Amino acid sequence: MTKITREMFDQYYFPLFTPPSFIPVKGKGARLWDQDNNQYIDFSGGIAVNSLGHCCDEVVDTLCEQAHKLWHVSNLMTNEPVISLAKRLVEATFADRAFFCNSGAEANEGAFKLARRYALDNYGEDKNEIISFIQSFHGRTLFTVSVGGQDHYSDGFGPKPAAIRHIPFNDIDAFKNAISEKTCAVVLEPIQGEGGIIPADPEFLKIVRQLCNENHALLIFDEVQTGCSRTGDLFAYMATGVEPDILTTAKGLGGGFPIGAILATNEVARVFTPGVHGTTFGGNALACAVADKVISIISTSEFLNGVKDKSKKFFEELGRINDKYHCFSQIRGRGLLIGAVLDEKYKGKSGELLKLCAKDRLLVLVAGKNVLRLAPSLNISDDEFSEGMKILEKAVADFTENNR
Ligand SMILES: *Cc1c(COP(=O)(O)O)cnc(C)c1O
Repeated sequence: MTKITREMFDQYYFPLFTPPSFIPVKGKGARLWDQDNNQYIDFSGGIAVNSLGHCCDEVVDTLCEQAHKLWHVSNLMTNEPVISLAKRLVEATFADRAFFCNSGAEANEGAFKLARRYALDNYGEDKNEIISFIQSFHGRTLFTVSVGGQDHYSDGFGPKPAAIRHIPFNDIDAFKNAISEKTCAVVLEPIQGEGGIIPADPEFLKIVRQLCNENHALLIFDEVQTGCSRTGDLFAYMATGVEPDILTTAKGLGGGFPIGAILATNEVARVFTPGVHGTTFGGNALACAVADKVISIISTSEFLNGVKDKSKKFFEELGRINDKYHCFSQIRGRGLLIGAVLDEKYKGKSGELLKLCAKDRLLVLVAGKNVLRLAPSLNISDDEFSEGMKILEKAVADFTENNR
């Protein structure tokens, strides 16, 4: 067999990504190994996806068991895992019903269609405006990328879907001016992820909810990144005292197996009658069995307390490193979704810090050019944590030295 090399990526794959020079071939917990058996500590969690780390034994067992039983029967039939997962999510949240698809973008695409259809059925065709926030990210389909608040992702693909408004996040006055009886939905991330780990202000959320009610607009929480115990609560909204009408989630839901979900109240979900929306792969038995297992593990109060404990350790250690090197102006986020904002004098250099970490075999993320983002597995061990932090400290030391 031909030896697979990194050069072959540049030859055969769409030139959309620029991965580093090594190719991971094996993972366990928060560790990865490359083709040359070099070991890496993973604080990136596959971009907040590997909620239980790489190849979690219990989840692997469930995957293999289900793989021997039933993978896919289409939505012409139902299956046991999809019902079990829907029941589990409904019982744990504000929602009365669930729908499954295969990614975050697909979940949001469905949620926006749901909100538009709900408004049409209940209030007529003039109520179609979606309010979204600058810097937000909701996926890469044309609708979701247009609702997202970063033009550089949505420009250059021809006409965009209409009736979408972008306003500054956490700006109560701007929101009051924007919302009206024409608004069908407001969509936000409880913590903006790709945009820079920016939490929604509690007061802002309260007013958004109140004005959505007054204007008969649906509130959609995009918890694709913040959901599935990432913030130390099963869903981030649970710590805010504000409930959405529709919630989307994906990333951590399958622990690395692709699956997305829309959760909604009965009142809203009932407009999705047969034929209105659909999916071939969504709700397949294999993905749902895996996600059902993942949620059964990560939703216990014991597990969630563990996330909170680990979060505290991450914030403390990052604070200690920062006391020594004064690299960050702020360390923010919740649970194990953490953003370390580079100090003014290192502006625009998050990529450089990421590369220094990778060179010493620590995998981290960025959220824009100014924020180092960490989203490690929610069950990361003390050893993995300490080893990773040692590398991070060295990378920060090198980074500040290089930029003196
Ligand atoms: C990652 C992300 C998405 C897109 O999810 P995909 O699975 O890549 O389609 C949407 N919304 C948020 C908040 C995300 O972080």
